[in-house]
Amino acid sequence: MVSRVIPVDDFDLVIFGGTGDLARRKIIPGLYRRFLAGQMPEKARIIGAARGEMDDAGYRKLITDALNEFVPASKRDATTIEDFVAQAHYTPIDAMGDAGWKDLAALMRPDVIRAFYFSVGPRLFGPLAERLHDHKIADDDSRIVVEKPFGRDLESARALNKVLASSFDEHQIYRIDHYLGKETVQNLMAVRFGNILFEPLWNAQYVDHIQITVAETVGVGGRGGYYDKSGAMRDMIQNHLMQLLCLIAMEPPSHFDPDAVRDEKLKVIRALDPVERDEIVRGQYRADDGSPSYIEDSENPKSTTESFIAMRVHVSNWRWKGTPIYLRTGKKLRARASEIAVVFKDPPHSIFGPQEGRRGNVLVIRLQPDEGMNLRVTIKEPGPGGMRLIEVPLDMSFAEALGEEGADIPDAYERLIMDVIRGNQTLFMRGDEVEAAWAWTDPIIAAWEERGDKPKPYDAGSSGPEDALMLLHKDGRRWREIK
Ligand code: NAD
Repeated sequence: MVSRVIPVDDFDLVIFGGTGDLARRKIIPGLYRRFLAGQMPEKARIIGAARGEMDDAGYRKLITDALNEFVPASKRDATTIEDFVAQAHYTPIDAMGDAGWKDLAALMRPDVIRAFYFSVGPRLFGPLAERLHDHKIADDDSRIVVEKPFGRDLESARALNKVLASSFDEHQIYRIDHYLGKETVQNLMAVRFGNILFEPLWNAQYVDHIQITVAETVGVGGRGGYYDKSGAMRDMIQNHLMQLLCLIAMEPPSHFDPDAVRDEKLKVIRALDPVERDEIVRGQYRADDGSPSYIEDSENPKSTTESFIAMRVHVSNWRWKGTPIYLRTGKKLRARASEIAVVFKDPPHSIFGPQEGRRGNVLVIRLQPDEGMNLRVTIKEPGPGGMRLIEVPLDMSFAEALGEEGADIPDAYERLIMDVIRGNQTLFMRGDEVEAAWAWTDPIIAAWEERGDKPKPYDAGSSGPEDALMLLHKDGRRWREIK
């Protein structure tokens, strides 16, 4: 299979916050991998713009160190790294003041795509957008990329959208959610809308329920102060899990076109029912031999912020009425695993009689580890001895199925950055989507704050609090194991 790398036009990519953690860990390594794949035009430039004096040589050194730290050795090659960093420049800038803006304006080339990555704290998004506009550094074709968090409630998200809209058009704003850049997530659309096999079954008549799990093994240590103001609902459910839910539940768009796809996602969010009190379980991890509790990590002895959440969600539309979607995410859980499981109903009548251990078909879409899909089907156990049924997976690990090419799946960030350069917004959240997601989330948070609900403790390395298990048990269902 020959890999098809679509060339992109020449560009200047300015990374505000180009010396920060995200730039070093994700953005720069992502660009390097695209360079390695031959997708970065020879003259394209990466311009780091951040607080702190530094010249081009200093920045190239910083980038080289980042690549050595965050790119696997098998992908590193001294000459290639040298060629790559030669395309990088640096200019100091103050997002809140006047310093550096004239220099940046002078650096930009005419007639190439200009993209501006806001890899800085959200309070700088507005000031950056305004200054880019006021100093005429951005033109009508320029793009800005904004990182999460996009607001902390509907009001702040609206305010942020308004500030950005005063300097940029919606078609220029790329709100990044790196979950959408994952290969499997896009494959979800390919599988749903590129095959006849699944779509007729993709509804409440045939789907018993859906589980979406994003489990992490790490705690909040190191960023406890930030996290404590947010919690799993704001940090994960409102954005990442909501986006996955939209892709799994949306109607087929008329075209694979950014606004057609985003219109359908928006309809899903608008069809979500309010969540009742008994449909949601919040948790907080306990201390575990030597490893600190959430309370210790957050350095807030009175914290009622959740590091775990499980909830039952209903999409009230013709397709999904009666099929619950269960969402679960948390820190310090048993394994680092993200997956979507579509659990189909049993056949209406079994001609084989009760078969122990037999369960229905499940389509599992794995986001990590090893991205891929797996469809569990029932077959006859081989050999004599009558008709005994067993389940086997029809497994499609991308790495295996696609050979070498599959082993080299682009990281979410590198794909998304190239989409920005190409001007393709399909995998980015539109302003109205983000607002609708907050409009659904806000009352849920307000209700538990009003009641003074406290999260339930859970053990590190577990699957979350007992009550989360009960959430499904009382519906006669069970969570898939986190592994
Ligand atoms: P960081 O603190 O490591 O880096 C911040 C960068 O912003 C630095 O380069 C700093 O020089 C620059 N900066 C700060 N104030 C400035 C000013 N007034 N003018 C110009 N530059 C200024 O932060 P980070 O972890 O890289 O995060 C950046 C953004 O990305 C944040 O919005 C964060 O929420 C988001 N994010 C980060 C991660 C991650 O893994 N680090 C993941 C998802 C989202």
